[in-house]
Amino acid sequence: MTASIISGKEVAASLRNEIKLEVQEWKDNVTPGLAVILVGDNPASRSYVKGKEKASSEVGIYSELTEMPEDISEKNLLDKVEEYNENPAIHGILVQLPLPDHISEKKVIESISPEKDVDGFHPISIGRMMTGKDTFLPCTPFGILKMLKYKDIEIEGKHAVVIGRSNIVGKPVGQLLLNENATVTYCHSRTADLPYYTAQADIVIAATGIAEFITKEHVKDGAVVIDVGMNRKEDGKLCGDVAFEEVKEKASYLTPVPGGVGPMTITMLLYNTLQSAKKFVNKDKR
Ligand code: NDP
Repeated sequence: MTASIISGKEVAASLRNEIKLEVQEWKDNVTPGLAVILVGDNPASRSYVKGKEKASSEVGIYSELTEMPEDISEKNLLDKVEEYNENPAIHGILVQLPLPDHISEKKVIESISPEKDVDGFHPISIGRMMTGKDTFLPCTPFGILKMLKYKDIEIEGKHAVVIGRSNIVGKPVGQLLLNENATVTYCHSRTADLPYYTAQADIVIAATGIAEFITKEHVKDGAVVIDVGMNRKEDGKLCGDVAFEEVKEKASYLTPVPGGVGPMTITMLLYNTLQSAKKFVNKDKR
């Protein structure tokens, strides 16, 4: 079998188009506003932030970037978040991670108002997701779910094996698949005999951060394979956690890197920001 390649670029473009139209429809009521805070000068973080700003402006979302020096105090950062919590033009707040060691990420995430937590990292958002309540879903897992749905891939009753258990990718993507009635297995660095589990999977989600780690031995014929990894090879090229060329010959669907999950992550941030703005308008009307 040769896999059908799921183009995240294509799915993202279609969703961004819908978001753009909806932003237009709502323009007499509200312009969605996204505040992004960047601390320090990490080149990867800077490039993610630029991507988020560009994507926002393309769909008509107002975005505001606050850059803070590496040695900014935790208090100054928390004050900035508080200012955005109070700012009625801002509906979504994102603090780009990682933060310098002297600042507590936990404190900063918890300082963001859950009503503006478009990254979905606040414990209240996570708790709401766990209990199946309406909330902001974390962008990468949400993007993966959207991709599966866009391709009409059945989730209910399927066995999904998630490799990775981070708070931002592995754990929440498993939870979202469980909410969709999949049977979910989590694997991680202490899993004994990883291929034993992955070879049973109808859906494999690879989120380890290890370049080309998932090979054809890990995957059963016809499995759906979603590659979340973004790794740099020695030659500087980007690659995923899945050995693309060999797994392509076994999977039914496979996402590429780049051009797979990556474009979906930013798209879901735009989606969450728009939903937030609409919620604020509807709340004011009540
Ligand atoms: P983390 O490093 O936080 O988590 C990696 C996970 O992989 C851990 O749970 C770890 O297990 C597990 N793992 C490590 N080694 C093995 C192994 N040998 N066998 C099985 N499991 C293993 O990474 P993230 O979740 O933040 O990110 C994962 C990947 O996804 C990275 O490449 C990252 O760049 C990418 N990413 C891509 C995004 C996108 O938009 N496309 C967004 C976010 C991340 P343990 O818990 O036991 O240590």
